[in-house]
Amino acid sequence: TDSTKEKLIRVHEDSAELFHHILLNTKIGEDALDYLTQRGLTRDIIDTFNIGFAPQERTMLHQYLIGKNNEQELLQKTGLFVEKDNGDLIDRFYNRIMFPIRNQQGKTVGFSGRIFQQDTEGAPKYLNSPETQLFNKRNILFNFDLARASIRREKEVILFEGFMDVIGAWQAGVTNGIASMGTSLTNEQIHLIDRVTDHVLIAYDGDSAGIEATKRASELLATETNFDIEIIRFSEGMDPDEYIKKNGSDAFKELIAHGRDTLFSFKMAYYRRSLNLSNESERLGYIEKILTELLSVTSAVERELYFKQLANEFELSMDSLKEQFQQKFHDSR
Ligand code: ATP
Ligand code: MN
Ligand code: MN
Ligand code: MN
Repeated sequence: TDSTKEKLIRVHEDSAELFHHILLNTKIGEDALDYLTQRGLTRDIIDTFNIGFAPQERTMLHQYLIGKNNEQELLQKTGLFVEKDNGDLIDRFYNRIMFPIRNQQGKTVGFSGRIFQQDTEGAPKYLNSPETQLFNKRNILFNFDLARASIRREKEVILFEGFMDVIGAWQAGVTNGIASMGTSLTNEQIHLIDRVTDHVLIAYDGDSAGIEATKRASELLATETNFDIEIIRFSEGMDPDEYIKKNGSDAFKELIAHGRDTLFSFKMAYYRRSLNLSNESERLGYIEKILTELLSVTSAVERELYFKQLANEFELSMDSLKEQFQQKFHDSR
């Protein structure tokens, strides 16, 4: 007989199929389908990601799964229901577009549901499954199962902030994208990535939250093994999905191929965001900071490049920069 985990997976797979069917083939799914179509998702991509809709009626999933001879006790463990005072279970997700979250084996182990109507103020934009025997956010990378082959082929993974970015990129033909589940990157997730590639391209949102998250993720990745890290920055606070909508798939692919920043130049830009470089002491502090960061750049050629940039920008001689760098280098030994 099946283990509890296998039963829980079957319940999730059945639920995903039901949501998907409701989205595509029923009247109550029409508004949700319209929303997705407005966002530019094709029928093909809706199928690939098995996107669905959980209707307003909060008894529907429960009735459906009881009808399939699942026991109440099992359903309680799925995280798909909330218990009323009288002990009855009602559907946790309602009136939301449902994104199945798959584990590394491609099995659905949880959901994230998005609201999409104007009159739902106060409700969180995304609602995730709670932690269950199957669903541990720390260990899950959205789309890792489907992306794995292409990560190996490209010898690189692209890390996005949101799973709508992963989906948008996939539709644009960029299939090596993954995302953590709305939390900052965990050590567990980094180890999963490490088994497949050592090259990470971070493509988080261009707003300040995304920039901060990029800084954190890159630091975390840098402390683990020898990840090669590059950064894509999106202007005007855009996220990758919005970028694709605005500029098209080809521009996005071009950006991924040729619009990368080194981690170092990302950090330069990061530090100067909060500084007024026309102030002399802030300028000196900034140059100090950059020289310190340069200690961890191992390529001499790359260092030379940054010395040049710094020298040009601040009208300093290469010699004085190098001298100060050498001093730091000695102090750090
Ligand atoms: P959309 O394009 O649909 O608005 P997004 O991916 O751009 O979605 P962001 O607001 O940038 O959404 O958030 C990034 C990620 O953070 C989401 O994919 C989701 O996993 C998570 N997230 C965002 N808002 C919430 C929330 N209220 N509760 C839980 N997770 C959230
Ligand atoms: Mn964001
Ligand atoms: Mn976003
Ligand atoms: Mn978005």
